[in-house]
Amino acid sequence: MRAGPSQEDIRRHNLGALLRHVHLGGPTSRAELTSKMGLNRSTIMALTSDLTAAGLVREELPRETGRAGRPSLVVRPESSRVYVFAFDVGPDRLAVARVGLGGTILDRREAVRRRGPFELEELAGMLAGFARQMRRKTRADTVCVGAAAAVSGGVRKGDGVIRFGPNLQAEEIPFGEELGRRLGLGLPVSVGNDANLAALAEHSRGVGVAVRDLIYLHGDVGIGGGIIAGGHLLGGHEGYGGEVGHMVVNPGGRVCGCGSRGCLEAEVGERALLEAAGKLGGGQHGRDAVRAVVDAADRGDIVAQEALKRVGDWLGLGVANLVNIFNPEMVIFGGMLREIYLGSAAQVRSRMALHAMAPQRERLRLRTSALADDATLVGAAELAFAHVLADPLEVLARVTG
Ligand SMILES: [Zn+2]
Repeated sequence: MRAGPSQEDIRRHNLGALLRHVHLGGPTSRAELTSKMGLNRSTIMALTSDLTAAGLVREELPRETGRAGRPSLVVRPESSRVYVFAFDVGPDRLAVARVGLGGTILDRREAVRRRGPFELEELAGMLAGFARQMRRKTRADTVCVGAAAAVSGGVRKGDGVIRFGPNLQAEEIPFGEELGRRLGLGLPVSVGNDANLAALAEHSRGVGVAVRDLIYLHGDVGIGGGIIAGGHLLGGHEGYGGEVGHMVVNPGGRVCGCGSRGCLEAEVGERALLEAAGKLGGGQHGRDAVRAVVDAADRGDIVAQEALKRVGDWLGLGVANLVNIFNPEMVIFGGMLREIYLGSAAQVRSRMALHAMAPQRERLRLRTSALADDATLVGAAELAFAHVLADPLEVLARVTG
């Protein structure tokens, strides 16, 4: 016979759940926590005082209650004291942020990444340098509780190795290990696929809050995806799932960076759009070049309009396939796909009408990312906070020695 959870297991679980409430929901009164968590007042009080003693939350009188009687204390995360480092490595951009408990971006640095082979030492050195700069500006009582990175590529579950990243020109790169070593904080660096992490970010803090089944599509040079089913990210057997950009929509179509042909990203990605718009070459690339095509189409440029129509057709076909298979409540277009979708929504919708099955399509919501260019960075921060939320006191005891 298996023993049930011990009192200590239950307490640990409840501490994590309470911290998660204020981390995601912001300052919350004890009374609200009592009703939301389904625990009694004295339990909430005990949990809150443990988290307060650990320096993870603090309690304050609410500013005004508008009600008679003794007001319920408000529990807020110690955002300026407890933080993580979040890193984002995209084909064109490197970003580092110091993110406080509660999700507040306290400080950030960004740099342009020149397209070319993935230089591990140079890149990890630069990112760690940014983190050190930010760390030097913090007060003595602050504590870093985690670090995580979002990368544009497939990441092996467990060891943070970038297995493949055609748009970063990366293959078998021990990124998490190297970045952790250079940071020198004695903390492991978790690494995740950028689109997967952005999907989780939109699900916990963006347009997909409270949506249990959603698909997030992330456009950069290529297209990544994150599929959330029943509230959980679908990672697959080894964590490489969700590569919707390499779903073949046009066999015999354009050559893809992955070696196949006619993948969604080959037909919809940056290169396909710029080529159709006659803008390939001449050094133009990246998010700005894509925005310029969408702007030109808005102003009535026929070539740009045709290019968006072409790309929107393929995008709609890809989304129809995904919708038929996963029956999401919402599809979110993020990164560069935000602009592309806004410029080609009519095409996407007409393809959906043709190819998506009515029951899956009828109540589907198509939305653009709420976190915009920060979705991947916010996702990395949430990954870094994950172990703190799972076991707050143990993690804090470990990092503060
Ligand atoms: Zn491909």
